[in-house]
Amino acid sequence: MPLAVKTFDQLRDAASALGTDAGARFLGGGTLLMRDINEGDISITTLVRSTDRAFTEIRSSGSRITLGAGVTMSEVAAHPELQYLKPVARTVGGPAIRNMATIGGNLFAFSPYGDFTVAMLALEATVAVQGGYSSRDVPLEEFLATRDRDSKSLVTGVTFRQPDNPTAFHYSKVSRTHPKGASVLSIAAHLPASGNRVSSPRIAYGAMAPTPIRAKAAENALNGKSLDEAGIADALAAATQGCSPASDSIASAWYRNEVLPVYLKRLLLGAPN
Ligand SMILES: Cc1cc2nc3c(=O)[nH]c(=O)nc-3n(C[C@H](O)[C@H](O)[C@H](O)COP(=O)(O)OP(=O)(O)OC[C@H]3O[C@@H](n4cnc5c(N)ncnc54)[C@H](O)[C@@H]3O)c2cc1C
Repeated sequence: MPLAVKTFDQLRDAASALGTDAGARFLGGGTLLMRDINEGDISITTLVRSTDRAFTEIRSSGSRITLGAGVTMSEVAAHPELQYLKPVARTVGGPAIRNMATIGGNLFAFSPYGDFTVAMLALEATVAVQGGYSSRDVPLEEFLATRDRDSKSLVTGVTFRQPDNPTAFHYSKVSRTHPKGASVLSIAAHLPASGNRVSSPRIAYGAMAPTPIRAKAAENALNGKSLDEAGIADALAAATQGCSPASDSIASAWYRNEVLPVYLKRLLLGAPN
């Protein structure tokens, strides 16, 4: 089966091509898509890519930062303004994968992948989606709830507010092979403080549901509390609410539910993983 590759200078032209060809898929770094093709997915007949510079740019405006969807994990890890995200980017596969794997592709990765997206969820990112010639910004949570890996829309970037205090951002990935194995689970948390109390915490999980999810029950239970054993107790009790992890070759659903509170506790108390 022949496979066409179409390259467009402008993102809007790439989005238009994607929307009008049933067999078209957007090619990010190709770490997942090329595997599908090599394994014989004949539903894919056209690969769409774009050389638009905006696609691979990292732009900041005040405290807001936009990562083009074509920015790679290696580029995030090397960026001076994004050092608090370096531990996240560096847990995505090995060096060869990180040099290719994009932010945009990570939004579509199936569980237990999607580690970077977990961090974006904790930072309340919005996703810029180009459908044909029109574009819109969608909260990441809403995007994940409706995403379709074969979507006909093109993601052009993600935008989020940098934490006022980078040390308020925390990330933990539990895997069988350190540091690069697939996730048993991952946790990202943004825990701004007001005095010695947590104020409006944001916690997200990876591999605890078909897509990365917000841990809203734990967030509510932690709001206004101190980060000590007594202060986090209610959040730990609520940790697995809303979770529906899979059983796969990495871990069973039972195991994931059992160990999540253990790792959340370590993250909240700043203990080593
Ligand atoms: C050996 C190995 C190890 C891995 N380890 C990890 C890991 O530890 N953690 C992890 O999170 N992931 C891991 N992955 C999965 C993957 O590498 C990453 O999730 C990566 O970020 C996917 O991005 P990509 O650019 O390669 O996506 P691609 O393969 O290019 O695309 C994946 C899907 O997303 C769609 N897509 C891509 N970009 C866009 C866009 N801008 N707009 C619309 N649709 C788009 C494609 O059409 C395709 O359906 C691993 C993969 C491999 C092969």
